[in-house]
Amino acid sequence: MDNLKSKVIIITGASSGIGEATAKLVAQNGAKVVLAARREERLQTIVSEIEKEGGEAVYHVTNVASAEDMQKLAQFALQQYGRIDVLVNNAGIMPVSQLNELRVNEWDNMIDVNIKGVLYGIAAVLPTMREQQSGHIINISSVAGYSVSPASSVYSATKFAVRAITEGLRQEESPASNIRTTIISPGITDTELSHSINSPAIQAMASEFMKMAISPYSIARAIAYVINEPEDTGVNEIVIRPTLQP
Ligand code: NDP
Repeated sequence: MDNLKSKVIIITGASSGIGEATAKLVAQNGAKVVLAARREERLQTIVSEIEKEGGEAVYHVTNVASAEDMQKLAQFALQQYGRIDVLVNNAGIMPVSQLNELRVNEWDNMIDVNIKGVLYGIAAVLPTMREQQSGHIINISSVAGYSVSPASSVYSATKFAVRAITEGLRQEESPASNIRTTIISPGITDTELSHSINSPAIQAMASEFMKMAISPYSIARAIAYVINEPEDTGVNEIVIRPTLQP
């Protein structure tokens, strides 16, 4: 993983799950990591753990649903390290439910975090990456970004949107600015994601599914792989799911 050395990598949703595993893995391989999320204590602990292992990391408390917070995060990364090589738009929530439950606030929250958060991340780093004429934006979608199932309509819609936005970004920016884009689409992964489900029937179903979950490091390894590829190689899309997941 030699190409990760000294790369400046911003990771949103780095306080748990896939974001935490990715932060630790890329730091082990010599990257300078900027962790972002809302829970400061978690971020502090993870940064200490990375530093104890000899890695380099800082954190910035960030709400991805705020365009201003995302701008501040990018400015913080630039102040700390002078450039931004990679943004991993990983933060996401999944309070899934059937549409007839009318959980309108949860629909709004998913749209704000899962779609607007990704767009605000792109807005925050694109000028810098265009100036550098290099950069890599990795957006986390889902297998739910390819197909819809009962209760997943709004969550799936946000993850379809992530794929659409990333592909549009690739078509616009890769030939023009040498910026790489990647869509990573995990299947069931052992993280805290299902904790945001408030619908009791769906929560029970999710607990059943979690029995086949794979480690967040399975996803982190894919993220590290796409970053590590040579600059002239854009890995645009990867789907990773438990072997047993239908
Ligand atoms: P976790 O719940 O463990 O992690 C989600 C992360 O997002 C946390 O660090 C949380 O931090 C952060 N987050 C949530 N809302 C915000 C916000 N408004 N601003 C900033 N950070 C926020 O779940 P995962 O690791 O599984 O989720 C990571 C990504 O992977 C998500 O996009 C998810 O949709 C996707 N995914 C996960 C799958 C799975 O089975 N686990 C399957 C397919 C896709 P904090 O609360 O501290 O802000």
